[in-house]
Amino acid sequence: PALPPFQNEPPVDFTRPEARAAMSEALRVVRDQFGRFYPLVLNGREVATGVEFTSTDPGASETIVGRFAQARPLDARDAISIARERFGAWSATPAVDRASVLLKAASLMRAKRSTLSAWEVYECGKPWREADGDVAEAIDFCEFYAREMIRLAEGRHRDVPGETNAIERIARGVAAVIPPWNFPLAIPTGMTVAALVAGNTVVLKPSERSPRIALLLAEVLREAGLPEGVLTVLPGFGDVGKALVDDPRVNLIAFTGSRDVGLEINRKAAEPAPGQDHVKRVIAEMGGKNAIIVDDDSDLDEAVVGVLQSAFGYAGQKCSACSRVIVLDGIYDAFVGRLVDAARALPVGPADNPDTAVGPVIDAKARERIEGYKTIAEGEGDVVLSVDVGSLAARGNYVGPLIVAGVRPDARIAQEEVFGPVLAVLRACNLDEALRIANGTVYALTGGLYSRSPANIDHVKREFRVGNLYVNRPITGALVDRQPFGGFQLSGIGTKAGGTDYLLEFLLTRTITENT
Ligand code: GLU
Repeated sequence: PALPPFQNEPPVDFTRPEARAAMSEALRVVRDQFGRFYPLVLNGREVATGVEFTSTDPGASETIVGRFAQARPLDARDAISIARERFGAWSATPAVDRASVLLKAASLMRAKRSTLSAWEVYECGKPWREADGDVAEAIDFCEFYAREMIRLAEGRHRDVPGETNAIERIARGVAAVIPPWNFPLAIPTGMTVAALVAGNTVVLKPSERSPRIALLLAEVLREAGLPEGVLTVLPGFGDVGKALVDDPRVNLIAFTGSRDVGLEINRKAAEPAPGQDHVKRVIAEMGGKNAIIVDDDSDLDEAVVGVLQSAFGYAGQKCSACSRVIVLDGIYDAFVGRLVDAARALPVGPADNPDTAVGPVIDAKARERIEGYKTIAEGEGDVVLSVDVGSLAARGNYVGPLIVAGVRPDARIAQEEVFGPVLAVLRACNLDEALRIANGTVYALTGGLYSRSPANIDHVKREFRVGNLYVNRPITGALVDRQPFGGFQLSGIGTKAGGTDYLLEFLLTRTITENT
């Protein structure tokens, strides 16, 4: 039977008492499991690696969320051997059967929705609503790529008298998937299920900051019927990622993370090792230095709310986050005044408190980096807001929002990705100057405009070169299918997660011509 058309999973409405109660209960259940040990599993068997590492609550540094057997480079090589062995059978499994594993996984995630969100709250410091949105996106990826693969598996036929031509898609081989921690379920799920449904086998090296959530993904996929060894998860560090990237038996690398690591992967993947018989395909989504332009006729109430949400949601730890707001001269003082007042009112606190708007940042290293940028900001503009986190500082990795105004376009704070709750405000005397500033970085990921002028909106739509442009709304929170997500320039190689072209990255195309 035909599947119903794809629809985005609606967010949980936490204003409903039942939804709040379910989430509180899930948080309690997750807390009860803190500190457990998770072994490394290769091909269904536990492997003693001799080393373990922990993941901690970013908002309560003393709290150990889980303990994990630390995978080693040799485990990466074993996992690739297993993936190679499994490739033949999995890639020969009919696409509809592979797709049905994804559909089953989606329904399992729906059933565990609040538990999955609760793990994100504690392992990554994601406030409730953002954690829930991440789980919803993971469900969407499963539902969407399942349908996409069924569509692509039909192939294309182009027959003329005396000749048939079949254009068909086949899997590439072994995929190494290397996701970040900031969308700890959605991004690993998206890259992994895209690779799997296309018929590839997968070795997933999650971020060392979100291993528990990656293991939950593996659990869901196993329960959904994915055969043993088709996916291996390797909780571990960069040495494991490097072993995957360097291995000549890997056919495809799907990466989301920092620019430096993405470029290094791309460089390494370009050079075939002796004896390697293929070119590795790299899918890399990297950073951003995203700007919102606020036109002088814009609705200030909307612009303030949209900028705040884009800049400080998940404490600015999204590659889509707004880190520059470019304000037209005529409205500059009014906008900055209101922005600062509204930002000051954002509650900063632990992610498990439903009232928190700005939670902790991921770890102590991130906090230090962001604090370093705060010092840079002081030297590059007028700090118009710097929220002191008070006693929270002793509990976890809290960084208060900072807004720095009067920043020059070439300042470091206007050029470098901070990945934290730091927003630079720049002044532009007209729309063309605003666009020049907006386009004046090495990145091209997201961008936004608040304006009521149709002519200005048209102009910005034509000239603002980013992968995802949003008009009169926040610039984060792309939805699968509706806003295929990804940038170009040094933001990425140009693929679009959650879009109709995405699975093609994970596939090869064969053309078969028969003279009849
Ligand atoms: N897709 C996310 C969004 O639209 C951002 C993903 C990322 O930070 O990597 O907000």
